[in-house]
Amino acid sequence: MTLTAERGSLPLLSLVIPCYNEEQVIAETVSRLNNFCAELTDLEVELIFIDDGSQDNTLAILRDHAAQDPRIKVICFARNFGHQIAVTAGMDAAKGDAVVLIDADLQDPPEVIHQMIAKWREGYDVVYGTRTARKGESIFKRSSARGFYRLLNKLSDVPIPLDTGDFRLMTQPIVDSLKAMPERDRFVRGMVSWVGFKQIAIPYQRAERFAGKSKYPLRKMLRFATDGILSFSTKPLQMSIALGMLAAFIAMGGIVYAIAMRIFTDIWVEGWTALMIAILFLGGVQLICVGILGEYIGRIYNEVKQRPLYIVEEYLGFADQQATHSRSPTMKHK
Ligand code: UDP
Ligand code: MG
Repeated sequence: MTLTAERGSLPLLSLVIPCYNEEQVIAETVSRLNNFCAELTDLEVELIFIDDGSQDNTLAILRDHAAQDPRIKVICFARNFGHQIAVTAGMDAAKGDAVVLIDADLQDPPEVIHQMIAKWREGYDVVYGTRTARKGESIFKRSSARGFYRLLNKLSDVPIPLDTGDFRLMTQPIVDSLKAMPERDRFVRGMVSWVGFKQIAIPYQRAERFAGKSKYPLRKMLRFATDGILSFSTKPLQMSIALGMLAAFIAMGGIVYAIAMRIFTDIWVEGWTALMIAILFLGGVQLICVGILGEYIGRIYNEVKQRPLYIVEEYLGFADQQATHSRSPTMKHK
């Protein structure tokens, strides 16, 4: 049984909530989470909000809440580092026997966490929410997400659950394993699958965003999808070899044809069209392959630089963090 760690009397549950420009939702989120916490009689709770370099009033609102409620803690990033890095920082700071990752926009209903806790009590180490429906999202977003999860699963060396985001409960050993994974281009949901232990899905309906706009525009979504695929598969490299071989095979046919025309006919000067097609086709194949290679090399470059994953400008409400009382930058070396 995992629910036995001693901390005072009750086990501690850490909720990690990444926030980027969420001034329109944050007050409601805090109140919904407070209601949820009030229903938990046999657990202590800490709420860790990460302000991911918001340019609006998110931090000011969080600051007020943290001042009033000792359970609320805030990690303020020095700039926008992105959702996956924000949840990583939250897990680094979480002290809980279990940690729940949940979005700030209330698309993941906090009430589902009760079911997650029940599964935790049954002995599961990871309880992830699988989306049976996604409300308020465009057809494009839903269908591209659907396609992406299926493609990722085909390419990935470890099975990554379909239609599953980061909304999940994880026990301390899982969180510790994630902390030991220093990679820069993080795709947290895949990393959790990679770790293993006992994992189970909970189906839930993804609600509509409470207010405001998605902070994942197409550009970020593509980046995220590329991270997912390249961090969990080297198949694109193998596919580029296959593509190169296919092109070489077709070229071989062209070469035989060209030689035959040269030897057996006197119309060999013609064939400019075929020549252009061959040049353009091979050029295209080469660029694609170099591009795929480049993506991997870029990632290797990111890794060797060994920069910290994020820079924290301020910790609010943490008893033992170095920067609780100051604004001096604190680096987290991974
Ligand atoms: N988020 C973040 N940093 C970013 C983008 C998003 O911390 O750079 C947070 C955002 O505030 C939200 C969660 O990540 O709590 C998911 O983002 P969003 O709801 O915009 O994505 P969607 O649900 O539309 O995919
Ligand atoms: Mg959302």
